[in-house]
Amino acid sequence: MSSESNIHPLDALHFDNSFIRDLPGDPEPDNYRRQVYDACYSRVQPTAVSNPRLVAYSREMAEQLDLSPEVCESGDFCQVFAGNRLAKGMEAYAICYGGHQFGQWAGQLGDGRAINLGEVINSQGQRLTLQLKGAGLTPYSRSADGLAVLRSSIREFLCSEAMHHLGVPTTRALSVILTGKQVVRDMFYDGNPQLEPGAVVCRVAPSFTRFGNFQIHTARDELGTLKKLADYTIRTDFPHLGQPSVAVYLQWFEEVCRRTAEMIVHWQRVGFVHGVMNTDNMSILGLTIDYGPYGWLENYDPDWTPNTTDAQGRRYRFGNQPKIAYWNLVQLANAIYPLVRRAEPLEQVLTVYTTTFEQGRQAMMANKLGLKQFDPATDEDLAADLFKLLQSAETDMTLFFRGLANIGADGSEAGFHALLESSSYQTLTEENKALAEQWLQAYQTRLRQDARPDEERRAAMNAVNPKYVLRNYLAQQAIDLAEQGDFSMVRELLEVLRHPYDEQPGKDRFAEKRPDWAKQRAGCSMLSCSS
Ligand code: AMP
Ligand code: MG
Repeated sequence: MSSESNIHPLDALHFDNSFIRDLPGDPEPDNYRRQVYDACYSRVQPTAVSNPRLVAYSREMAEQLDLSPEVCESGDFCQVFAGNRLAKGMEAYAICYGGHQFGQWAGQLGDGRAINLGEVINSQGQRLTLQLKGAGLTPYSRSADGLAVLRSSIREFLCSEAMHHLGVPTTRALSVILTGKQVVRDMFYDGNPQLEPGAVVCRVAPSFTRFGNFQIHTARDELGTLKKLADYTIRTDFPHLGQPSVAVYLQWFEEVCRRTAEMIVHWQRVGFVHGVMNTDNMSILGLTIDYGPYGWLENYDPDWTPNTTDAQGRRYRFGNQPKIAYWNLVQLANAIYPLVRRAEPLEQVLTVYTTTFEQGRQAMMANKLGLKQFDPATDEDLAADLFKLLQSAETDMTLFFRGLANIGADGSEAGFHALLESSSYQTLTEENKALAEQWLQAYQTRLRQDARPDEERRAAMNAVNPKYVLRNYLAQQAIDLAEQGDFSMVRELLEVLRHPYDEQPGKDRFAEKRPDWAKQRAGCSMLSCSS
């Protein structure tokens, strides 16, 4: 290695920045807030920070980027991923997009605090876009400051990686770095602004293109740019579909519908509530994107939303996510309509979402219950009755399904009661005990019908019902410590969440019921968009 590459090891990354090379850009070089017309991006430099400090990095993500642990622990890594230095080949830009927020068209949004650093081509030939979140103002910052605070950065970092290890399609996170700068935030928009430590996350995904990227051009009648972006996306992210044409636009939309349905099935499987499913927060690749006021179901409750901004309408509540994804796909269909110019085939393709989701949901339910296959004749009721019980008994969804693997066809009623008692947030009522007895009987009859060996069933269930998820209060505990300068729990959680389906002796404290203190505490069950 030359001394130059010792000082700047990140200069060895190989970039191919096709997004800005192939798509129309904003000609304005200055960085001020504005409407950006007929362009997909604006060039903008990250704002330098005084005192960057590494909180944590993801070793799998680093490996995928061909970065060694030494490089990740180097000063250069901290400088580059805090936004202080562009490594060789990096080109910084913010992307223009719009979106529907809470069902209303909101016009131009864009990367208000995200700055892309370019697209790495790794040694496997994979294309991975690097993006800093919280690295300063861009033309799309509207009235905000372009920054992010440590609490939300840790939440994004840990959850991206946790979701990946759970097998849920997601954008990833490479690092979280403290900037040394203090940021003002009014966490609940109630006139109590506080200074909080600022941080920057480096996010990674093949692309960060959202439904809203297409919507903004259609809304402004920029149809040439719309077509360029669609063609670019198909060629870059969906190359197997072939050269863009009307037929290929429809196939592309079909694939987006399918991937979105699959992603939502996963969310429902693991109990993830996104919290802000606006169309600008929907990835064209079907990845979970933009971790803000998300949360994990504790007691099973389809009406729960972690987002205080959504407390009134509960548009983004757990049980509504499948419908909202469909609503968002309808908006995407409207956005690409000018490329197809016929409504009927687009409507036809939208049914692919519904059928994929429905098939996926059934298979997912069967898997969670340890059944070989979903039989609608019996299993629809079996699932519905169980969810009724779990909701009524305020049962922790993760603990219950994990424990259910140990019940089996011959498990005793007492054993089942014990499982419910230990995973519920209230004492079992007589009514719930009766419901539980009935359900256990129906379930065991169904298991006997399957005649699946216990060990096989248990292993299959444990592969889809995680033991470890990023419980809301655990993330908050890690944040509390990190705000005191102690990053050990962030790192320990990251480690545990690498193997969410394994037993991991000694780590049981990360798989426990929410403690009482966490029920009403800010950050644990109540979050806002302020981040
Ligand atoms: P979100 O609610 O995170 O999906 O953000 C909606 C829009 O607001 C996006 O255009 C974001 O880039 C922008 N935004 C959110 N927070 C900030 C911030 N602190 N500074 C600038 N823009 C922001
Ligand atoms: Mg967003």
